[in-house]
Amino acid sequence: MADFADLGADREERDRALALKVRAPEGPSATGMCLCCGELLADGLRWCDAECRDDWQAETKAGRGA
Ligand SMILES: [Zn+2]
Repeated sequence: MADFADLGADREERDRALALKVRAPEGPSATGMCLCCGELLADGLRWCDAECRDDWQAETKAGRGA
């Protein structure tokens, strides 16, 4: 007999992993602060706006080298 609670948890975990993959295909996870300027942000955000994101990406690429 199937345990529906277990099935639900399993599916929830898979959905969460998928959502993370879609939202953050690469790069660091959200820390609650802008990765560029350190501004406090809402949960799940990594940058204040596109400008901070672009700055951070440019710096990261430059620092990483070839
Ligand atoms: Zn910022």
